[in-house]
Amino acid sequence: MHVLDILVPFARTGRIGAVRVGAQLRDVTRELGPPWAEGSSTGADGLPYLYAYGCLEIATCHAHCQVIESIVVQTDQATMQWPSREPGRAESFPGYPTHREVVRALSETGCSWDDYAPLTCDDQCAIRVPASGAIFVFTTEDVEEPTLCNASVADHRPRSCG
Ligand SMILES: [Zn+2]
Repeated sequence: MHVLDILVPFARTGRIGAVRVGAQLRDVTRELGPPWAEGSSTGADGLPYLYAYGCLEIATCHAHCQVIESIVVQTDQATMQWPSREPGRAESFPGYPTHREVVRALSETGCSWDDYAPLTCDDQCAIRVPASGAIFVFTTEDVEEPTLCNASVADHRPRSCG
């Protein structure tokens, strides 16, 4: 497994298996088992709304239905931990893909992307993939070439459950 094997399909579809915005957390736990970590903040229902399987982070709504609102792949680690096909078991691979590697992999699969100005500034740059709305943020600080910090999709539209 290579980090680009995750990032390219994520860019194209905005989902990682059962992990997709609008699904429920229980759809994910059915596939991946219980989350490996959860946030300490809780919503109105007393449940955490941040969950993680290694470098895969999931945020849910703050109500009991636990609808997924955002997905983040944290790539700013030398060794990324990732859920394998076997629930509860991690696999690991190197993180920090470069901007060049990411955009080349996207282009090779015919996935178009644009520079994303709202998250581009002195010490970072970003691209957005129109097909999925995925946003990739790269650090440009103290590096030879920009490296990916994270890739994410989010839907912050108000929900009736909120
Ligand atoms: Zn909800």
